[in-house]
Amino acid sequence: MTGGLIALTFDDGPDPEVTPQLLDVLEKYHVPASFFLIGERITAETVPILQRAVMLGCELDHHSYSHPYMTVLSPRQIEHEIFSATQRIILSTGQTPRFFRPPYFAVSEALFSQVNMPFIGGYGVRDYDANVSEAERYQGVMRLARDGRIILLHDFEGNAPTVAAVRRLVPDLLARGFRFVTVSELFRSKGITPRNTDRILYSYTGQTEMYAPDA
Ligand SMILES: [Zn+2]
Repeated sequence: MTGGLIALTFDDGPDPEVTPQLLDVLEKYHVPASFFLIGERITAETVPILQRAVMLGCELDHHSYSHPYMTVLSPRQIEHEIFSATQRIILSTGQTPRFFRPPYFAVSEALFSQVNMPFIGGYGVRDYDANVSEAERYQGVMRLARDGRIILLHDFEGNAPTVAAVRRLVPDLLARGFRFVTVSELFRSKGITPRNTDRILYSYTGQTEMYAPDA
């Protein structure tokens, strides 16, 4: 059970300090990641960071405009969340987000119907919790890493333990034979076309149920 393709993903950025530190690691090892961006955090200060991410082969995806529980929003509010963030990503980087990660994994039939992108989940290590140590984050990802999986981490402000964990886990996963790819490349390489009409919150490529098992 070692080696294979894996997609590192980071939610809740871009952040002016944490995101560049992650890009330094990705650049050092020549590996891409996918960033699920919060639209309102794309500003004059953070646009150059996103442009650098694109140059490094990273993918920019969609994590709403203001990170609400989208299942309680009106159709008009959902439209605003999707359109505003998409526009910021396109106008600032030329990239069109292809995948959507619903904040808090809150989904509903209405949300699946209205948002015309495949929904992406992922295997996480609770790295949004300050009580989860760097070692636990590192060990958690090493344990969860498996061919075809999407790993979910966070690059929000001040999340230094995740940066430290990533500095260790990228070379260690490479040493175990894993190849890092973007979410798009992960599905492409597996010959799978994810569709939001399938009502799946994808955490791995072969998933056929709405939610993936925990581990
Ligand atoms: Zn989030």
